[in-house]
This record gives sequence, C-alpha cells and structure tokens, in this order.
Amino acid sequence: MGEHTSVARLAGGLQRGGLLLLDVLHILQGRHGYLRREDLEELSRLSHLPREQIHGSASFYSNFRFQPPPPMRIGICGSLPCHLAGAPGLREAAEALAGKQPGIEVRTVSCLGLCDRAPAALINGCSMAPLHPRGLPAAVRKPKMAPAPAPQGLQEYMKKDGYAVLRRVLAENTPEGVISQLKESGLRGQGGAGYPAGAKWEAVHQAPGDEKYVVVNADEGEPGTFKDRILMEQWPHRVLEGALIAAATLRASHVYIYLREEYPRSRRVLQRAIGQVQARGWVAGPRQRPRPGRPALRLVIGAGAYICGEETALLESMEGRRGEPRLRPPFPATHGLRGQPTLVANVETLARVPGILREGAGVFRARGKNGAPGMKLFSLSGDIRRPGCYEMPLGSTARELIEGPGRGAPRGVKAFFPGGVATGFLPPEHLGTPLDYAPLARAGSGLGSGGVIVLSPQRCLVDVAENCMEFFAHESCGKCTPCRAGCEKMLAMLKGLRGGRGGDFPLWGELSRTMVDGSICGLGQTAPATVTLGLRHFPGEFEAHRRGECPAGVCFRK
Ligand code: SF4
Repeated sequence: MGEHTSVARLAGGLQRGGLLLLDVLHILQGRHGYLRREDLEELSRLSHLPREQIHGSASFYSNFRFQPPPPMRIGICGSLPCHLAGAPGLREAAEALAGKQPGIEVRTVSCLGLCDRAPAALINGCSMAPLHPRGLPAAVRKPKMAPAPAPQGLQEYMKKDGYAVLRRVLAENTPEGVISQLKESGLRGQGGAGYPAGAKWEAVHQAPGDEKYVVVNADEGEPGTFKDRILMEQWPHRVLEGALIAAATLRASHVYIYLREEYPRSRRVLQRAIGQVQARGWVAGPRQRPRPGRPALRLVIGAGAYICGEETALLESMEGRRGEPRLRPPFPATHGLRGQPTLVANVETLARVPGILREGAGVFRARGKNGAPGMKLFSLSGDIRRPGCYEMPLGSTARELIEGPGRGAPRGVKAFFPGGVATGFLPPEHLGTPLDYAPLARAGSGLGSGGVIVLSPQRCLVDVAENCMEFFAHESCGKCTPCRAGCEKMLAMLKGLRGGRGGDFPLWGELSRTMVDGSICGLGQTAPATVTLGLRHFPGEFEAHRRGECPAGVCFRK
C-alpha cells in the first residue's frame, strides 16, 4: 500500500493482519513528513486499536515525528567510531550552518553503521560518509548516498550453487538432519547473545503450534558493528536463502525481515532480491496464500530504537506495542510472534547456514582457530589504518585482525573493544586473547557482535566511556529502574568526572553491580562494562581526572 492509501484501508489492513502498526505509521508519516493527530485519531477509531496504544507505540521510536519537519534535516552519527573520527566538530559545523540558514534541523542520531567510513551523517534520509565539516555545505545542497559495491545478483549467486541447498532441504524434508548439522557445526547466534543456533532451531521445531514464524533480526545497531549491513548490501541472496532454509526446516509460513530504517541501501537491495525470489515462485506472491514450503517473505522497517535488536523487544515492536523486552520465560521458540513458535535469528547466523549445509558441518567447524568453530565476520573501526568488515576464523586474535586485514594501528593501541561498545574495552595485553566467547568472558568482556574498535594512546578513556554511556542512556527503553536510572546516573557521574567533580569509585562499582544484577535485558546488564573495565585496567586515568588532569589532553581544555 502506498502513501495515498486511505486511513480506512490502512485500518482494514491492520485488522486483517496484512499490515503491522509499524507499516501503517511509516505510510502515514510518509504522506506529510510527520504523524498528524487527526490521522492517528481516525486510525484508532477505524481499527479499534486504543489511541493510547497507537500514540504510546509511535512515541517510542526516535524516527517518528509529531510536528512538520523542517526542509533540511541533518543527523550527525554520535556513535563511538564517529565520535573518534570528529563527529563533534561536524556537529558544530552543522549548527553553525543552521545558524546562518533557516530551516535546518541538527540532531545527534544513534549509530548509522558506517563506522568504517566515519564520521557519518544522515541528511534528509540519505546516509553520507565520510563527511567532514568542509564538505558539509555541498552535502546539504545535494545529499548523495555513500558509494558501495554492487550487490551479487541472483544469476551470479545461482551460478555458484545458490538456492541449491534450499531446494535440497525442501525435497528431502528431514528437519532433524538439518538441525543436527547445525548443532555439529558449532554455529552460534552472531547478533551478540551467542546462543547455539542448532539448539534454537530444535526448540522451535519441537514446539507445538499451528503456525510458526521466522524473523530475521536485521536491526543491527551496536556502535562499531556493520557486518550485517555489508552482508545485506552485497550478498542479499545468501541471507534470503538462509532464512528460507530456516522456514522450510521449521515449516514456517511467514518470514519477516525486521530491518532498521537507518539502512536505506540494505532496504533497496533486499526489496529487489525479495522480488526476484517471488518471481521464481520460491515464496508466496502478493495474491498467493502462504504455506510451509512457500512462505510469505517481507520486510518490516524499524523506526529508530536500538533495543528492538533484543529479540523479544523486536517481537513487541512487530505486534504494535512499544519495543520493550519481555520477561522470559517463556522464550520466543515456544511463545514468539502472536504467541506462536518463532525463530528470531541474526542476519549473519542465517547467511552461514547455506554454506554449512553445502560443505558439511565438519568443514565449517574446522575453519575456526584455537578450538573455536567456523568463521566470523568482524567489523573493524576506530584508530586503524584500514577499517572494514573482515571474515576471519573464529578464535583469531585481535592482533591478527588489526595487523592483518586492518594493516595495523599507526599510533599504537591503548585499548580495544572486542565486540562492540557493550563489551567494554580491554588493554593491549589482551590483543593475543582469541576472539571467542569463553576466552573473552574470562577476560571480563565478550565477543558481542564482533565489532572491534581500536583506541590509540591519544584517546581519553573517560571521554570514550561517556560517549558509550550517552548511547545506552538514550537507548534504554526505561522498563526497569536499574537500567533507566542507572544509565542516567552513570552518565552524570562521567560528565562530572570530566568536569573535575565526583569520582567516588567504590560507589560507581556498586551502581555497576546493581545494573548488572537488576536489569532485565542485555542492554542494562552490559551498559556499565566500559566503566567497570576502565576502572579495573586503567585506574590511573580515572584517578587523574579526579585531580582535574586528563593524561590524553582531551578533557579540561580551556
Ligand atoms: Fe529496557 Fe534497560 Fe530494562 Fe532492557 S535493561 S528492559 S533496555 S530498561
């Protein structure tokens, strides 16, 4: 349905289940650039959805507006890699421009997933990177999407045996065989949680239910992580084949790809790839009834909420509520979308499946290093010569990644994040620690989403910690107090320390423990990691700030 569809038709689509509330809100916002009160009222009246639910849901997301937008909207990416690459200066330049030209809005936006080309900005919906202050006036005159390599097409993919595994899985119809291969491969969820993929598929397979769903979690938003974007933009059919194999194995009738709105290119590439598999008849067409073996396949576009990358928050979002995580159990495997058994799986996890089933679990497993199974995509950014997305054996070390494809850190390494900002940073002594779940957990950190961010000796770690905490405080959904209040409190403490105030570190430790123990989802549990690891490994740097000194010379500048 397009932007001219009447509210009555949208309400009908919502009632019949063909449209989700998120779809409808996007269509309504697309008409006027914002959500008009009268449209939401009419939608509530005609769909019988309570006004509070519609408004409560819409107001949860950063990307929905309730006032007409200005003609020019500049969103400066505030994530850590962009911060390191000069985002604050870019924001100043944008504000100066807005001061001279009316009709320009400047705001900070959460990670745009362009960390390898930082600093990045979103100008009237167009993601641009790298964008430096001197290039801003031209970018505002003519926003142009950052260049990217062309995606692998369907023909090319099929020449390399693409979709052959899907056809085999459909013909053989032995879900237990597929699941045992996945278990044997040692593949784990690549989105951050690292749950064994085979066990997850098995739980959905064994769960009783009339209808089952596959949801591809493409809501990648962790600062320093952009591997899923690269996969979707360059190898969309690998992702789709993995998702369709999951649907065939689990006898799911619907496959949804929940994609963040900040990835406009991924959206375009995936939409085209979906059209191609529809044309081949491998998924249900618009007028065909979906069924296991020929499922419906569609995109659901998020609206700017990092927490929707948490699988139960994502399901809440799809069901038209605020994207707040659910208490578990029950788990999505048995009670997922619309209360039915649902596999929620990350983009990279699914993209690995065709290869594992084609080559055999043993071949995949043997590719890992230091006892870890298989390959992994790492996003490498920060103070590195050649940032980018690199595939390495799981269990490789950060040193191998930095000195190999990253071509080295020209100024040296003071610290590094092994798996995105939620894992906290480690000192260089850990550059030789295998990038794998157990070794990193023993080091007090984690593999997370595989976003390795390098920090040079010129970086102030208190400044870095503040940037990370700003992100978590902004993205906390607010459902539980230890996270909602804890993130804000910790942010205030860090800001205070950078201003030469406070620094009661035992109290910081207590607050961190409360957040870890009392938060109901991973966001609140991992948010204090930067502070705890910072205090453990770099106490001198934090202590110095208490005395009003910044060893890196970043804070206390006059
Ligand atoms: Fe929401 Fe934070 Fe609680 Fe997670 S930990 S449910 S993000 S408030």
